[in-house]
Amino acid sequence: MSDLDVLLREERSFPPPESFRRDALVGDDALHREGAADPDAFWARMARELTWIKPFTRTLDWTPPHAQWFADGTLNASVNCLDRHVEGPRRNKAALIFEGEPGDQRTLTYWDLYRKVNQFALVLDRLGVKKGDRVAIYLPMIPEAVIAMLACARVGAIHSVVFGGFSPESLRDRINDSQCKVLITADGSYRRGQVIPLKRNADKALAECPSIEHVVVVQRRAGAPGDAAFTEIKEGRDHWWHRLMREARNADGGFYRAPEEMSAEDLLFVLYTSGTTGKPKGIVHSTGGYLTAAAATTKYVFDLKEEDVYWCTADIGWVTGHSYIVYGPLANGATCVLYEGAPDWPEKDRFWAICERYGVTIFYTAPTAIRAFMKWGPEFPARYDLSRLRLLGSVGEPINPEAWMWYHEHIGHGRCPIVDTWWQTETGAIMITPLPGATATKPGSATVPFPGVSAALLDSAGQEIEVGGGLLALTRPWPSMLRTIWGDDQRFVDTYFSKWPGRPDLYFAGDGAKRDEDGYYWILGRVDDVLNVAGHRIGTMEVESALVDHPAVAEAAVVGKAHELKGQAIAAFVTLRAGHAPSGALRDELRDHVAEKIGPIARPDDILFSADLPKTRSGKIMRRLLRDIAEGRALGDTTTLADPGVVASLKDQYEAQE
Ligand code: ATP
Ligand code: MG
Repeated sequence: MSDLDVLLREERSFPPPESFRRDALVGDDALHREGAADPDAFWARMARELTWIKPFTRTLDWTPPHAQWFADGTLNASVNCLDRHVEGPRRNKAALIFEGEPGDQRTLTYWDLYRKVNQFALVLDRLGVKKGDRVAIYLPMIPEAVIAMLACARVGAIHSVVFGGFSPESLRDRINDSQCKVLITADGSYRRGQVIPLKRNADKALAECPSIEHVVVVQRRAGAPGDAAFTEIKEGRDHWWHRLMREARNADGGFYRAPEEMSAEDLLFVLYTSGTTGKPKGIVHSTGGYLTAAAATTKYVFDLKEEDVYWCTADIGWVTGHSYIVYGPLANGATCVLYEGAPDWPEKDRFWAICERYGVTIFYTAPTAIRAFMKWGPEFPARYDLSRLRLLGSVGEPINPEAWMWYHEHIGHGRCPIVDTWWQTETGAIMITPLPGATATKPGSATVPFPGVSAALLDSAGQEIEVGGGLLALTRPWPSMLRTIWGDDQRFVDTYFSKWPGRPDLYFAGDGAKRDEDGYYWILGRVDDVLNVAGHRIGTMEVESALVDHPAVAEAAVVGKAHELKGQAIAAFVTLRAGHAPSGALRDELRDHVAEKIGPIARPDDILFSADLPKTRSGKIMRRLLRDIAEGRALGDTTTLADPGVVASLKDQYEAQE
């Protein structure tokens, strides 16, 4: 594929506020310079901030495309997240502040979490889980999810967290792919006032999961356990969590379970990608390298201080939950908010109520949420005192500049830097991001690589592009890179390291991006979604951003549809902000707005107004299905959709309009 054309010009720039910079962990370019001077030495220094059982002497062993980090060192991830804190002044510090959707609250100190993780590690022993075994976790966003993950790490088992909103079929496929031995689930999970019957879903999956020997069931639902009508407990196979925990004692009658000594390259977890683009891949992460990058990025990207109250709204079922709810923040001894439910339950102000209630200082969410907040209107955050917030983050999709500005104004009150963090399940940790005390931000740009990370833009021939559009690549290994795809190393090589023949050193991210004169990166969308209009290759993000730039628009998705003359014409799907109604006049206005903002080439041929867009369960717009609709094809695989009803109704509307 050729280079990407660049259409959007965004001139706004926000230097770190002086008041923020003054107290920031990084207030100048020293860390970036250190990383550039010697990336291996930089990462080795970051790794030494962890607690090792046996210190490593080797930093990087690299036989492209495979890399190993700190390979002769040994450590345990749960020790880094717990033991080293309870030995010091953080023992009674809040580790998790949990709020359930019905409003129940629980705070776990580091000591509480340490004790429970040890106990659950003893439970895993009793269930026969051994180092290297796989354990599936299918839980809501409750403290037991964190406990289960860390207990797996303690005994050296590889966890495979499956998002609690996934169907029985998705759970089954993931369990079977990596042959999990134990499943940890809950009777139910609260979502918009309903109880989702997780255990019942799990039972459907388990009918076809011969590798599962034991199931542990957390009682989440209020009421007596053993409500057989709701939760069936199969004798011998299924066990209530609270009963096992009550009995969990070591040989001395205590709760302590010694941590397993793990090699840095032993696997910590497998996590299946969300599947925006196709069959889920079991992404495999190591212990030492992964933890190094998760901890270092959490500390420096979020400027984490001892007194912060940190809230990442992701689900533990996604990599963001792994790296930035569990491993990164806990390795740093942070206080983390954990919320179970929906942002609009019982009202559209729930997130802001939580921020005020716990005095959240660092807030990390996704563009899909920000666009929903825009759609609902600024009156919801305006009801709350958000003055403790000092830093905002975004991850998951490109953030349209106007959504960035909305976030900046209505949540950050112009005071909080925004870190737009680009990374992937495969990268394990944030790769491109501002350092909030050091990097001037530009709305819509993830800015520059994290220290020690080497990125580049290449054309399809492998020529580097200094300024302009191209394919995003990572050009040197980084500690938290995926080690392989579970059970399919060839797919690992083919997917990530075969884009440029003869260059197995180059990691192909699958995203298009541009680089501006300041060396800033702007992610323009997935390469598979790129539009091709009259010979111009255009990233989806720029056209969508031009639409969102119009005051009536909250969210937009664009796709290319076959066109006789142009190759492709642009079809746009648009969601309006509260207080705006669809009309023919507005449609014309939006088409002109795009043409004016980024050029006539990008003028959409079709615009369809829609109350919602098809999203993956992780909240990302799924353009592949919109393409099917625009081209009048049968819909492709819809199993990873959050709400299949949305595409069905869009398809009807689209066909009615033609
Ligand atoms: P699959 O790989 O299974 O299709 P996925 O790519 O959605 O699923 P993730 O690993 O969760 O799974 O997402 C990574 C992708 O999300 C990136 O490749 C990029 O397209 C997008 N992304 C993440 N953060 C950003 C960001 N800050 N700006 C732009 N895009 C982002
Ligand atoms: Mg991906």
